[in-house]
Amino acid sequence: MEKVYNPFDNFCSVLDKAASAINMPKNDYEILKHPERELKIAVPVVMDNGELKVFEGFRVQHSSLRGPCKGGIRYHQNVNIDEVKALSAWMTFKCAVADIPYGGGKGGITVDPRELSTKELERLTRKYAAGITPIVGPFQDVPAPDVNTNAQIMDWFVDTYNTLKGGDFRGVVTGKSLATGGSLGRPDATGRGVSIVTEALLNVNGIDPKNTKIAIQGMGNVGSVSARILSGEIGAKIVAVSDVSGGLYCEDGLDIPALYQMALKRELVENYNAPGVKHITNKELLLCDCDVLIPAALENQINVEIAENLKAKIIIEAANGPTTVEADAILEARGIQVLPDILSNAGGVVVSYFEWCQNIQGYYWSEEEVNAKLKVKMINAFNDVIDMAKKYNLSYRLAAYAVALNRLVTVAKAKGYIFN
Ligand code: NAD
Repeated sequence: MEKVYNPFDNFCSVLDKAASAINMPKNDYEILKHPERELKIAVPVVMDNGELKVFEGFRVQHSSLRGPCKGGIRYHQNVNIDEVKALSAWMTFKCAVADIPYGGGKGGITVDPRELSTKELERLTRKYAAGITPIVGPFQDVPAPDVNTNAQIMDWFVDTYNTLKGGDFRGVVTGKSLATGGSLGRPDATGRGVSIVTEALLNVNGIDPKNTKIAIQGMGNVGSVSARILSGEIGAKIVAVSDVSGGLYCEDGLDIPALYQMALKRELVENYNAPGVKHITNKELLLCDCDVLIPAALENQINVEIAENLKAKIIIEAANGPTTVEADAILEARGIQVLPDILSNAGGVVVSYFEWCQNIQGYYWSEEEVNAKLKVKMINAFNDVIDMAKKYNLSYRLAAYAVALNRLVTVAKAKGYIFN
C-alpha cells in the first residue's frame, strides 16, 4: 500500500525541494508554510422535511502577499481542513506562476451535494456565504467554483453577500453566470489553458500535434473542453477518454464532437457505442498506448503501479494533484515529462482574474479578447517554467514552484516580512 500523505505536508515538502534547488534560504519562504487564516464554521440547514442538519464549512486564506486570496469552494463528503489548506497553498503558487495579482485561498463544505435537493443546496450555500462573509470581499478574498460547485452556486453566493453588505459587490466571486457579471470564455478557460500548454510542450519536444495520440481521464468541464480544443483546433488525435463509468479507446481517434455533446448533457461514456471503439477501464486508459496522458478527474490517479507501466512520454496535469509523491519520483526517473497542475490548469484562475477585472472596471470584453489574453498569460507562464527548468536542470514541477517562490519572496521582502 502506498503511504497516504497529509496533503499540506506534501505541499511543504515540494516547497523545500524547490527552494533548495534554487539555493533559497529557509528563512525566505518559511512564511509560506503557515496559512494566514483558517476559518471553520457551522452551516445549519433546514432540510425539506423540516429536520435541521449542521454541516462543517471551511475557508482558508493561505497567502495574500501578492493580492487578494483567490480560490474555489468545494462541496464534497471528504472535505477536511488539511485538504483545504493544501488546496489554498496550491492556489497561491498557481496565481504566482500565472503572474496574476492574487494570493491563494480555498473553501469547502463537508457534504455530499447529491443528497440535497436544489432548495437545500441553495440554503446551504447562502448560510455558508453568510458565515464566511466577514473575511471575503473583492479586495480580501475572492472565491470561485471547484468540485461540485458551479455558476448557480456563485450567483447565490454573490446575492447573499450583496444583501448583507448592501451594495453590488459582484467582484466578490468569479465563475458567475453571465447574467450576474460572469465572463465570456470562463467555462472553457481551464480546458483551453490545458490545450495551450499541451501544444507548447509538444512544440518544445519537436513533436507535431497532428501526429500525437492523446488520452484524457475525466470528461467533465476540464477534460471535455480539453478534448474538444485539442482535437478541433489543434488537430491532435484523442484515442481515449473516460469518466466515472469507464473509458473508450479507438486507435484511429474518437469522435470528440459527439462525445463532447454527451459530456455537456452529463451522459456517461459507458452508453456510447461506435464501430472500432473499445470499452476499457480507467486503469486501462491510464496505461493505454498514447503519447500524451491528461489526467483531468481526481487526485492520486497516477500511483506507483501506473507510473511504472504507463506508455505516455508526456503528462499534462489538468486535475489538481493527480500524481502521488512516489509516482512522481518514478516518472522523473523514467524520463517522462510532467507538466504540473499549478501551471497546466491555471487557465481557469486566469480567466477568473479577467472576470474580476471586468467587474471592477464595469466594462466587458468579447470572447476573442478573453481567449487572446489567456493565451498570452499561459504562454508567458509556460516559458518562465521552461527557462527555470533549463537554468537549474529541474523537473517542470520543481521549476514551476521555483518560479512562484521567487515571485512570492520578492514581495515578502518588499513588504518587509523578511529582511533583504
Ligand atoms: P467535473 O466534476 O466537471 O468532472 C470530473 C470528471 O471526472 C467527470 O467526467 C467524472 O465522471 C470523472 N471522474 C470522476 N471519478 C472518476 C474516476 N474514478 N475515474 C475517472 N473519471 C472519473 O470536474 P472538473 O471541473 O472537470 O475538474 C476536474 C479536475 O480539474 C479536478 O481535479 C479539479 O480540481 C481540476 N480543476 C478544475 C478547474 C475548473 O475550472 N473546473 C480548474 C482547475 C483545476
